[in-house]
Amino acid sequence: MHHFRPIATCFLNLLTLTSYGSLHLSGGSSPSESGNLTRRFSLFPSIPLDMEDYLKLFVEETSFYNRLVLGTFLPESWWGPLPHMLQGWLRNYIGGVLLYFISGFLWCFYIYHLKRNVYIPKDAIPSNNAMLLQISVAMKAMPVYCALPSLSEYMIENGWTKCFARISDVGWPSYVIYAAVYLVIVEFGIYWMHKLLHDIKPLYKYLHATHHIYNKQNTLSPFAGLAFHPLDGILQAVPHVVALFLVPMHFTTHIALIFLEALWTANIHDCIHGKVWPVMGAGYHTIHHTTYRHNYGHYTIWMDWMFGTLRDPVEEDAKKM
Ligand SMILES: [Zn+2]
Ligand SMILES: [Zn+2]
Repeated sequence: MHHFRPIATCFLNLLTLTSYGSLHLSGGSSPSESGNLTRRFSLFPSIPLDMEDYLKLFVEETSFYNRLVLGTFLPESWWGPLPHMLQGWLRNYIGGVLLYFISGFLWCFYIYHLKRNVYIPKDAIPSNNAMLLQISVAMKAMPVYCALPSLSEYMIENGWTKCFARISDVGWPSYVIYAAVYLVIVEFGIYWMHKLLHDIKPLYKYLHATHHIYNKQNTLSPFAGLAFHPLDGILQAVPHVVALFLVPMHFTTHIALIFLEALWTANIHDCIHGKVWPVMGAGYHTIHHTTYRHNYGHYTIWMDWMFGTLRDPVEEDAKKM
């Protein structure tokens, strides 16, 4: 029976934190303020009481990533003197570019070369020019995209969000529930952000249309995954940051999920229908690119199913026959 306790504590934390607002550091050290601090922190029983010390854990973690990535690719005299936030941005930029190119090239090599004619008919392979255009759009936007994780790291390091640093601070059951709630917020947020980018005409015309010039199977490729107007890409990732203010989230998992987006978006633009229910694979997203009015969702078909915009690739094929 005792394993119910952590789950109950988790729900209690979720409720209480929601009513407390964020783990905001008030700055001063008067007895009443530090009392407040102690009370807030007692929500996570194993967290040390001093908030400033706790926030250092986030800075230590991001500094570690900075050393790891920047230290590998650049001489320290180049990045060492930069302010911490700028180091974070540069690290996100290098990480993002590497992830985009390595995953894109491996993916294309596999589906267009090694498995030629297996997943995609030869005449549906996108031209090199189409892919180069997608790469150039994505590369123009990448420096702007990276501002978002840098901003979220800044807010986390300053204690504005509900992020926690170690899974042991809340326990595994709570960690899993929080991450699940976070993902539901992301699913809901990205669905509506994407739908509004279509429904609000100026947003579509000036932002989202950039991504929709690839509207046939033989122009879509994994490289289209990040080919957005920079603001469009940021808007669609904003739910990841909003969620940090609504639910306690493990910092490292948040970072990992942001980077997972780059892989996921490559996957849903490869035009290969995975047929794994309830995952919203490329089969669904290809339909999004051809009808503009269906399948706005992200990881799963849940939101489209709930809000009546789902169109199934299998039914679609059946209709054509
Ligand atoms: Zn769209
Ligand atoms: Zn797309």
